[in-house]
Amino acid sequence: MRGSNVTIIGAGPYGLAAAAYLRAAGVETRVFGEPMEFWKEQMPVGMCLRSSWDASHIADPKQELTFDDYCRHNGNHVSKPIPLDRFVDYGQWYQRSVVPDLDRRKVVKIDVDNGGFRLTLADSEAFFSRRVVLATGISTFARRPAEFAGIPSALASHSSEQKDLRKFKGQRVVVVGAGQSALESAALFKEAGIEVEVIGRQKTLNWVGLHARLHHLGPLSKLLYSSRDVGPAGISRLVAMPHVFRRFPRRFQDRTAYRAIRPAGAGWLRPRLVGVPITLGRHIVSATVQGSQLHLKLDDGTDRLIDHALLATGYRVDVSRYDFLSESLSKRLETVDGYPVLKRGLECSIPGLHFLGKPAAWSFGPLLGFVSGTEFAANELTYCFPHRNGTR
Ligand SMILES: Cc1cc2nc3c(=O)[nH]c(=O)nc-3n(C[C@H](O)[C@H](O)[C@H](O)COP(=O)(O)OP(=O)(O)OC[C@H]3O[C@@H](n4cnc5c(N)ncnc54)[C@H](O)[C@@H]3O)c2cc1C
Repeated sequence: MRGSNVTIIGAGPYGLAAAAYLRAAGVETRVFGEPMEFWKEQMPVGMCLRSSWDASHIADPKQELTFDDYCRHNGNHVSKPIPLDRFVDYGQWYQRSVVPDLDRRKVVKIDVDNGGFRLTLADSEAFFSRRVVLATGISTFARRPAEFAGIPSALASHSSEQKDLRKFKGQRVVVVGAGQSALESAALFKEAGIEVEVIGRQKTLNWVGLHARLHHLGPLSKLLYSSRDVGPAGISRLVAMPHVFRRFPRRFQDRTAYRAIRPAGAGWLRPRLVGVPITLGRHIVSATVQGSQLHLKLDDGTDRLIDHALLATGYRVDVSRYDFLSESLSKRLETVDGYPVLKRGLECSIPGLHFLGKPAAWSFGPLLGFVSGTEFAANELTYCFPHRNGTR
């Protein structure tokens, strides 16, 4: 059985950055995953990134693989906000540079084994690894409201299930939610000539990026905002320092994290939503199939007969839903509200097992849910490797 020192599972921004840092530190790694799969397959065609240009670099230790480097290297002019297809191409270019030996096979099982882990691949190959880094993202955690349980996906689908929204041409669609994904999907529906309404629980829409002036006040702006671009003035600075953030009382961390990532749309979406009916402060109390359509009842007593409900209702981390974790491993995993409890090196209660990306957010704050957290995460990971070559 072939062995490995470190196995990284995931070839999205976190897995790729981890590979770049560990390999630069001379740590032998095997990396598994489909490059940028979540971005390529589970986000809508035509989408743009909400994160700013400066917050959209996948970290690399030599700073030679930034989004700017990608543009220079490929002779590309990329508009702002960054179009999804350009970002996917950037991630794939980064992957070819850092992990040309990427193994695209799925890991189907991880079990603890004799001071390390036994991993099994989809084709039944099994091998031993001393450490395992999970950078497997959030797609497993898509949140489908209980009212839609049992409704076939042809009538109600989570936003992560729809890649090309134009296929709903000629239909009447309701988007459930009022965050970036909901609002951007609504804009894409409208632009494709599809009849759409947004229904959200919150009483008002929140927007980010509306205080452009605050970003152009020189040194004062630097005091208010971190280039990591997570959260409003002040909070942005705090969450950019995960080691400081995690020292605050839990209640403060939870509130601040919510404020940093509450449902909100990018300011540039506003003009694109003109003419889209947006019903706020309401929620759906029931959804029932009526012939070939879906009947929604709202808490204000009104109803809608539609062809499809797009559930832009976000993700709820619950690592017990990672079906590749063996039962015995899951049982030994200390979690809070579905998140693994992590210590230095992003290591969980099982020595040698690390979690990167959004699952690390309970322990290290909301930065870990964004591309701009890759530098912190990859650096932090190298903490566990005493013979590293000065990547920290
Ligand atoms: C609609 C939408 C828009 C977003 N926009 C932004 C944005 O503008 N800016 C931003 O910073 N963040 C954005 N995010 C958040 C974004 O999801 C994260 O920043 C980013 O994807 C985290 O990267 P990751 O590497 O943790 O996971 P992912 O990018 O999801 O990568 C997961 C990887 O794991 C692999 N994998 C999973 N399971 C297995 C397995 N069993 N075996 C092998 N491989 C496996 C996959 O193939 C993939 O390569 C957005 C999220 C959504 C839903």
